[in-house]
Amino acid sequence: MGKNLTTRKEDYSKWYNELVIKADLAENSGVRGCMVIKPYGYAIWEKMQAGLDKMFKETGHENAYFPIFIPKSYLSKEASHVEGFAKECAVVTHYRLKNAEDGSGIIVDPEAKLEEELIVRPTSETIIWDTYRRWIQSYRDLPLLINQWANVVRWEMRTRLFLRTAEFLWQEGHTAHATEQEAIEEAEKILDIYADFAENHMAVPVIKGTKTEVERFAGAVETYCIEALMQDGKALQAGTSHFLGQNFAKAFDVKFANKEGQQDYVWATSWGVSTRLMGALIMTHSDDNGLVLPPKLAPIQVVIVPIYKGMDQLEAISEKVDPLVKELRSKGISVKYDDRDTHKPGFKFNEYELKGVPVRLAIGQRDLQNETFEVARRDTLEKETVKASEVITHIEELLEKIQENIYNRALDYRDEHITRVDSYDEFKTLLESKGGFFLAHWDGTAETEERIKEETKATIRCIPLSDGKEEGKCMVTGKPSSQRVIFAKAY
Ligand code: AMP
Repeated sequence: MGKNLTTRKEDYSKWYNELVIKADLAENSGVRGCMVIKPYGYAIWEKMQAGLDKMFKETGHENAYFPIFIPKSYLSKEASHVEGFAKECAVVTHYRLKNAEDGSGIIVDPEAKLEEELIVRPTSETIIWDTYRRWIQSYRDLPLLINQWANVVRWEMRTRLFLRTAEFLWQEGHTAHATEQEAIEEAEKILDIYADFAENHMAVPVIKGTKTEVERFAGAVETYCIEALMQDGKALQAGTSHFLGQNFAKAFDVKFANKEGQQDYVWATSWGVSTRLMGALIMTHSDDNGLVLPPKLAPIQVVIVPIYKGMDQLEAISEKVDPLVKELRSKGISVKYDDRDTHKPGFKFNEYELKGVPVRLAIGQRDLQNETFEVARRDTLEKETVKASEVITHIEELLEKIQENIYNRALDYRDEHITRVDSYDEFKTLLESKGGFFLAHWDGTAETEERIKEETKATIRCIPLSDGKEEGKCMVTGKPSSQRVIFAKAY
């Protein structure tokens, strides 16, 4: 099929960029580093939002909304937090424009300088903890389980559609707890939700772990993460959940009276996933023909294309298709009947393949006579003829099969690309020739971590939660190590 896509083998990153554009997901805008998310891409994001939002609410979280602007003094209150984000902040300094006196156009009015500069939120811990000081007085006010769906701005220097943009959409959870243990459990619970969503909705297998100190969120005591592996052997951090200790409570003076009547600082978590998940979804499943979407997130799960000559034939086909569309919809399946007479069936087939619609039905004259449909699945590109009387059950089963198949395919790829290495030379060789995740011993120091990053561009993606303790020696320094960590080159 000629989609004129660069193949993944030829140039993986070119393939990705072309696919995002050609499948109508998003495009670059006139604003540096900021993208336009197009309706089809946004429809997938809305399905992600809906799935996650349901999971958050089922675990007791509520949505709220906080300001987009953060006074500079707030951001500065937690020392390591501001240090981490200072390099990528967009700052509002003025609130008015005016006509230049020399007639040269519109300029910033120097007289309209803000007394205090405002930061466009890169994340909302500071504004939220400033609010929580007013909301929390006693243990009865806890836990406070809040989530916000919002946009944030981080002035990223090297941007890529969905994966890393200067403005991105995300959700950020911010919770407050009476005890350390409870906050840690919350951070871990959210990590489980993220992993569940990635695996069971996105069909993307992930490894759960914690970040090293170097990679930790600015202001966190512990950062938990899920790491996925893309088809080019590079890792993608797909979500993070932070245990913040009492850092923000101390910075914003948020205390509560505990059951014994004593004042104590509140314990905190924060957690987020962003439109980067779209990038993970695209890069995990798609092929040289276009997108491959998991049925659970596909805006259109089934498309029906009539093959006809003349209006009489189309009418006869529509008579069969209309009740089928109704019945599929009543079962919660999203279906599109594409009876446009402005495009040929071949064009439509190409378009839906490019857009990753999981199941395609075609019906022509012979199918009408035989009471059949041609059913094609996007993941394997296989076609079969199915009796009209069995087509609904067939589609229901097929959607489940596709969801499972693309997960298993991604899992096989991921598992084939987890390599245990014990020598640094072997690591360097395989990192270049094979890529993927490497399980290796590391001496636990930032120096060794930095050295490996400088020499190979690989970073420690996480200290996996599931991999148990194992005595060994650091592959670089030979110093003792008690557990293997995961290295990879990453997006
Ligand atoms: P953080 O607040 O740094 O822990 O990030 C929260 C989530 O946003 C993580 O899942 C990141 O992968 C994602 N993220 C961070 N920076 C960007 C960016 N520039 N574009 C898209 N997603 C991002």
